[in-house]
Amino acid sequence: MQRQQRVLVTGGAGFLGSHLCDRLLEAGHELLCVDNYYTGTRRNILHLRDHPRCELVRHDITFPLYVEVDRIYNLAAPASPLHYRIDPVQTTKSCVHGAINMLGLAKRLRARILQASTSEVYGDPGVHPQTESYWGNTNPIGPRSCYNEGKRCAETLFFDYHRQHRLQIKVARIFNTYGPRMAIGDGRVVSNFIVQALRGEDITIYGGGTQTRSFCYVDDLVDGLIRLMNGRAEFTGPVNLGNDREVSIAALAEMIVELVGSGSRIVHKPLPEDDPLRRQPDLTLARRELAWQPATPLEEGLRRTIAYFEAALRAS
Ligand code: UDP
Repeated sequence: MQRQQRVLVTGGAGFLGSHLCDRLLEAGHELLCVDNYYTGTRRNILHLRDHPRCELVRHDITFPLYVEVDRIYNLAAPASPLHYRIDPVQTTKSCVHGAINMLGLAKRLRARILQASTSEVYGDPGVHPQTESYWGNTNPIGPRSCYNEGKRCAETLFFDYHRQHRLQIKVARIFNTYGPRMAIGDGRVVSNFIVQALRGEDITIYGGGTQTRSFCYVDDLVDGLIRLMNGRAEFTGPVNLGNDREVSIAALAEMIVELVGSGSRIVHKPLPEDDPLRRQPDLTLARRELAWQPATPLEEGLRRTIAYFEAALRAS
């Protein structure tokens, strides 16, 4: 086991954050889990309430935070297009002001800090699969810009703090991730399709369904984040983390209908503005630098996620 550290996770009550919190506690660390519960939920971390090495703090990282820790995982931001369309200004604030506040904290503490960046920094990519050296194709004024430009600016801040203040930074570009604890109504494709299939409702494909994504199971992703944080100090990233099996949204819909054994019909709805056409990570760098690659096949991950949603729907 590693030396015990005091670790701060922002967005700790979110889908990814709550799984990361579980893993850090299992590894024996002391945890400070921070969330403002805008999109995260207390349900995701209820089981940590009485954990002797865990402290839960309600805090919005767009305001400064004064704590003492050794490591910071900065995950806080609304991550579903549905949520960031509802409050785009707060989304940019959480990405940019949040990064400034957490970098300021890391600077004062000389703590290593990891940024949860995103494949959205590539926009609607002109390079396929996306390598870290690709600068992206993003719209600065569209409905998704609050998130993609906010996350791009956060990356800039991380690298400027690194160059200017010699801060130890790690930047992960996270591709589409799915698994238990996704919110039922968060609007993302895997949760939407599974909930629709379980309820026997129409499966809503936006556009023709030929657009692609590459879906990573949450446990694999969290494993990648921890490896990145604990890796050699000189390696900053950015590094892609995700699964490189590319599927069309139409194929995903069929797969979920079949796995659920649902009688749902597939219907088509308008494609949202600026919806990227293709997305697949090039994982060469992650494989080489982190000795990491995703291990969970899509069908297996979907089975586990379906089981989670079955229970969640029964309980709701
Ligand atoms: N999508 C869809 N039906 C839904 C939700 C999403 O067809 O009910 C599509 C969406 O237009 C996009 C893809 O699935 O092309 C992934 O959407 P998601 O919001 O999960 O993530 P992102 O667009 O950020 O990759």
